[in-house]
This record gives sequence, structure tokens and C-alpha cells, in this order.
Amino acid sequence: MHIDVITVVPALLESPFNHSIMQRAKDKGLLTVNVIDLRDYSKTTYKQVDDYQYGGGAGMVMMIEPIADCIADLKSKRTYDEVIYMSPDGQLLEQGLANRLSLYKNLIILCGHYKGIDERVREHFVTLEISIGNYVLSGGELAAAVVVDAIGRLLPGVLNNETSALEDSFQDDLIAPPVYTRPASFNGWEVPPILLSGHEAKIKQWRLEESLKRTKERRPELINKWDAPSNKET
Ligand code: SAH
Repeated sequence: MHIDVITVVPALLESPFNHSIMQRAKDKGLLTVNVIDLRDYSKTTYKQVDDYQYGGGAGMVMMIEPIADCIADLKSKRTYDEVIYMSPDGQLLEQGLANRLSLYKNLIILCGHYKGIDERVREHFVTLEISIGNYVLSGGELAAAVVVDAIGRLLPGVLNNETSALEDSFQDDLIAPPVYTRPASFNGWEVPPILLSGHEAKIKQWRLEESLKRTKERRPELINKWDAPSNKET
């Protein structure tokens, strides 16, 4: 998968993809993330990318011209499955959306800044708008990093054990069961004995029960979906 991220603050995206699982995805050639500085597409001397908003009011708005030129340039080299704009009023990022995006080949992610972007960009270039939650960030970069991470770890071959992403919370609409590692006893706090039993089937059963219990306690709205498989998104 290839992802082009358009930003006015490329420095914010220098680190998130260069460590851990994202780095592994890149090393294996399964993911390329290209961070593009929108100012490279500005035609003004001072590399202007934002301007005052029509109608007055505080806060700058990202201009359409550099964004249009940048997207046209990218589209001359690749065909994109989606042009995504990170936006607090977009579709909420959930596991199902990450799963869907992970099946694509080429994505553009546009990060807003300041007051946001000229509405005409959203109307004419953007095909999908994603929010990472009902709160406002100062820019789309951290949100874009969240999206790339959520997608990247799902690409086949990125995680060591391909099934491990399937066992995460929200896959199957269940919260993951608790996990433990050594030591088996700390401060008198014991690891559940079943996990030390070596009995695979019983451990599997215990994990499922814990998942169900946890989902009922913490995300009861998911359990309803789980109880009625016909309602499940595929
Ligand atoms: N004035 C806008 C907010 C602009 S915040 C409004 O009230 O809706 C600046 C940029 O940060 C946005 O253009 C967007 O790209 C990004 N952003 C802020 N909150 C976000 C969120 N919850 N999810 C995704 N992107 C977000």
C-alpha cells in the first residue's frame, strides 16, 4: 500500500512511521508513506498556503490552489482509491473503516491546519472524510498518523503472526481478553492459573469468556451485534 500524506507541518510526521510495527511494514515493502510538504506547491514567494477567510473572522484557511496542484501532481503518477481529508466532522474512525481502507492500494490523506481548508477542496477533491474522535485537534497530522497506523498493522505480513490483528479488540465486535507475562506471581498478585495449565482448548474458552465479560462491561453496544451475527458487517 502506498499512502501520500499532504501537510503544512511535515516535521510532525517524521517520527510516527519510523519505529516499531510501521517501520517493519516499510522494511518489508508492504507500506510506503510519503509525506508531502504543501508549501512545495505554493506559487508565492513566501510559500503561502493559507489566507484570511471570506466574510471575516479569526483564523486562517488553507487555500485551494496549492492543494489542487498537489493532488493533480499526485494523480498524474497514481490512481487513488480515496482522497481522505482528516476532519472533526468526518466519519468516525472505527475498526471496520480501518479494515476497509487496508484493502486499498493507494491513498491520499490531506491534513488540515488553522481553521481548516477551503470548502471547495472538500466538495471537488475529497472522497472520504475521517474524524478520530469528537474533539478538535490543532492539525490533521496526528489524526493522519492514527489512521496510517490503524491501517498499516492490518496489511497481511506486517504483524508476525497474521492472525494476531484478527484477535485484537473490535475485530469480531469483541474486546480483547486480559494478557499476562512473567512473573507468574508479583506482590502476591497471581496470573490466572488456567493460562499456566498448557491446556489449549480450555485457555481458548477462558479467553472467549473473558472477552465476552469485558465487552458486556465496557462496550455493551458491541455485544448486541455479536449476539445477532446476521447484523454484522462483513
Ligand atoms: N474549525 C474546524 C477545526 C479545524 S482544526 C472545525 O471547527 O471543524 C484544524 C484541522 O485539524 C482540521 O482541518 C483537521 O484536518 C484536523 N482535525 C482536528 N480535529 C480532528 C479530528 N477530531 N479528527 C481528524 N482531524 C482533525
